[in-house]
Amino acid sequence: MATPIRTDWTRAEVRALFDEPLMDLVYRAATVHREYHRADEVQVCQLVSIKTGGCPEDCGYCSQSAHNDSDVKPEPLMAADEVLRIARRAKNNGVTRLCMGAAWREVKDNAQFDRVLDMVRGVNDLGLEVCCTLGMLSADQAQRLADAGLYAYNHNVDTSAEYYDTIITTRTYQDRLDTIANLRTTDVTVCSGGIIGMGEALDDRASMLHTLATLDPHPESVPINVLSKVPGTPLADAPDVPITDTVRMIAVARILMPTSTVRLSAGRHLMGVADQALCFMAGASSIFSSERNIMLTDAVPCADHASDRALLASLGLRPREPQAQGATV
Ligand code: SAM
Ligand code: SF4
Repeated sequence: MATPIRTDWTRAEVRALFDEPLMDLVYRAATVHREYHRADEVQVCQLVSIKTGGCPEDCGYCSQSAHNDSDVKPEPLMAADEVLRIARRAKNNGVTRLCMGAAWREVKDNAQFDRVLDMVRGVNDLGLEVCCTLGMLSADQAQRLADAGLYAYNHNVDTSAEYYDTIITTRTYQDRLDTIANLRTTDVTVCSGGIIGMGEALDDRASMLHTLATLDPHPESVPINVLSKVPGTPLADAPDVPITDTVRMIAVARILMPTSTVRLSAGRHLMGVADQALCFMAGASSIFSSERNIMLTDAVPCADHASDRALLASLGLRPREPQAQGATV
């Protein structure tokens, strides 16, 4: 019998998983992964920053916050046809999911949002899974995105409710959960995960995954980011995250949310082939790959398409086809 999908995990159960011997945990996660996913496939995604920098939020990790002093140069909202040119090139490079990020606190009903809706329509027409991450939004705005063909919306909870205001003070954890609830009034899929390496305790990592794993339904997509230390941010000198912590986080996410796609996100550029192989074994089945070796901004590095093609080939993994057209995640 397949592992059941549960949304009633207790905090103690989640915390206990973090204490399991790593090899046992990875073995269990790999078993769950194979029940619900093709173990030989990895989805290749690409981020594009459609509006960069100057963000009013004070997220302590972020290169784009106006409160931080990073080298990122603010740039206005891109033209829709420029985004579509990037999307076409991404598709030619084997990308099947394009995520458009804007350094906004929240979506406003204005001409800029209309332009983003045009981008969503255009990227969707290319047959890519189209994802946006634009900050907080209302149920009505979520529906407008859905009507334009949006497949997924990213809104990370980032860390635990308890640790949240150590990292961000300009919004609350509940604000994040409210936006996720607004998305759930539509058929847009939810992408929500977090970051490790921001000085949080193991209890915070467990608490964050408990929050996600008790959402009903689970987010269809769960990105696990390792903090990319950006000079000029309060977290520039945070200690390194051991690879075993990253693998453990991925494995626990995989066990708690068996059908979700767990995404190995920021921080991958620091990992070797064997490190990444262990992450795939533990249930990660998606990577972010790039044209210019950057994630969203120049401040956060990312592997490029050619090296990722070689990486997947060396492990006998295949890039996954898009699931946007009517298939389930
Ligand atoms: N403004 C939108 C928001 O906050 O929802 C979207 C853009 S934001 C750049 C998307 C996500 O990227 C954040 O929620 C965070 O988890 C991740 N991120 C940003 N900077 C990062 C960094 N330096 N290291 C790791 N992850 C990071
Ligand atoms: Fe703004 Fe998003 Fe960066 Fe926070 S993570 S400062 S909301 S762009």
